[in-house]
Amino acid sequence: MSIHHVVYPGSFDPAHFGHIDIVRRAARTFDHVTVAVYGQPNKKVLFDVDERMAMLQNALKDITNVTVAKFSGLAVDYVRQVGAFAMIRGLRVFSDFEFEFRMALANRRLAPDIEVVNFIADERHLHISSSTVREIAQLGGDVSSMVPPEIAQALKARFADSKHANAGTDYVISLQQD
Ligand code: ADP
Repeated sequence: MSIHHVVYPGSFDPAHFGHIDIVRRAARTFDHVTVAVYGQPNKKVLFDVDERMAMLQNALKDITNVTVAKFSGLAVDYVRQVGAFAMIRGLRVFSDFEFEFRMALANRRLAPDIEVVNFIADERHLHISSSTVREIAQLGGDVSSMVPPEIAQALKARFADSKHANAGTDYVISLQQD
């Protein structure tokens, strides 16, 4: 087990500048970061796990101490499996705190030896969430300030495909006009 290796688990559907900022912070704090893409999140996904992984790999290709992998099952089991000592999570707003706090305590109950380390993204990215990105892209809006160009392109292509026309707004915020 290395105290220098951490895992950043998430759905990343799709990854955005908030996630990428968290990875950069973790990569300069620890020796190695495994970004672990959750295969079957408890919510409908727009991109399958291999697509989400490929997008992240491309977005993070300039950071040498980062690996992107996929996992299923409990995040703490995956952290143990790769021999990491902690799990990274990002914090945006106070409402994230309650959820992340409960998750961290549940994870500690499951695996007292695994730490949870929280990073706060740059304030320019704090408002971004994957669901906001999906909804804006679905409505034809410009997401170029929120995601790298390849991901903006992938979103455009996905929503141009009629099979996915309604896929962005499952857990909706509503940026749509009445
Ligand atoms: P999950 O389904 O596990 O919540 P997400 O892909 O939505 O997966 O998020 C993964 C992690 O990234 C979570 O810890 C989340 O709080 C964090 N995160 C998401 N968006 C941002 C952001 N804009 N700034 C900082 N952290 C973020």
